[in-house]
Amino acid sequence: MKNNAGDIKILYPLSLKELGNLCEEFPDALLFAGGTQLMRTIKEDPRCLISLNAIRELTRIRRKENYIEIGSCVTLSRILSLGENVVPIALYKAISAAVGPSIRNTATIGGNICTISHISDLIAPLVLYDARVELRTLSGIHWLPLLRFIQTHEKTGIVAGETLLVIRIPLEEWDMQTFIKTDIIHSPKLSVLKCAAAVRTNKNSINDLRLVFGGISPIVLRSRELEGILIGDKLPLQKKSIDLFCSELTKLLETKKEDFLPHPYHFGTAIRFTRYFLSSLNTG
Ligand SMILES: Cc1cc2nc3c(=O)[nH]c(=O)nc-3n(C[C@H](O)[C@H](O)[C@H](O)COP(=O)(O)OP(=O)(O)OC[C@H]3O[C@@H](n4cnc5c(N)ncnc54)[C@H](O)[C@@H]3O)c2cc1C
Repeated sequence: MKNNAGDIKILYPLSLKELGNLCEEFPDALLFAGGTQLMRTIKEDPRCLISLNAIRELTRIRRKENYIEIGSCVTLSRILSLGENVVPIALYKAISAAVGPSIRNTATIGGNICTISHISDLIAPLVLYDARVELRTLSGIHWLPLLRFIQTHEKTGIVAGETLLVIRIPLEEWDMQTFIKTDIIHSPKLSVLKCAAAVRTNKNSINDLRLVFGGISPIVLRSRELEGILIGDKLPLQKKSIDLFCSELTKLLETKKEDFLPHPYHFGTAIRFTRYFLSSLNTG
């Protein structure tokens, strides 16, 4: 299917096979889903756009016992409509806080990820849950951890010929999960902060602890080494354990400070958030 808006050719493939053929025929074409991000960042009119919205495989949601798979063109509203019992809480909170209802009806999860910038609020919670993405590249279809996708694409952006197909999010039991987003600060340097955290306990000791921060560059920061510090610790956590954890976090953030969290308010809030999250484990 195609449509000509002025001189811009807009193509609407109905299957992944058709998409593949069109990508070969029009290698410079820009892909879009909801178009909410593309329309506000595009600098000059593209000659050819390919809409992903009519490809049925990309609008499916499949729920299994241990994971949920969400097609890249599923809208944020549709994900929220699944409810907090299905959508992991930190992701649910991030979507609710990201954009207003009118944009949520059009904006997609895949578009949010493929924006690959500090704007994308869904990346931190998805990395928190160890989400994986299915990617179609010129060399075929493969799965990779979202964190690796972000790390490898942060500088280049999505590469021509690549399509994000599906996002797989493991469904696990957590005792506490949360997400916060602070206001963007524009001056003297652009700065943002998002924090996502989750913890699981077993017989009153910490079994799994995850912390992901969103900033400017890198877009997300997660340290397995840091997360490992408190594994096995009994609740209630001792003050000295929380102090040690926060001092290691401070050291980690200091190595990235200038580019990652340029504003001191965001730097301090990341540490305050972590202290608050860990202390709240003691109160239930
Ligand atoms: C007023 C306004 C406020 C916003 N505020 C926020 C905010 O607070 N937080 C936030 O996270 N976002 C925000 N956004 C950005 C945007 O709405 C969301 O990130 C949205 O999820 C993008 O989805 P989309 O489907 O519209 O993406 P599109 O605009 O269609 O695409 C975005 C980019 O991803 C590429 N792309 C899309 N899908 C695929 C795919 N499957 N495979 C390969 N490449 C793909 C496109 O080529 C494009 O480069 C805002 C947008 C607007 C207009």
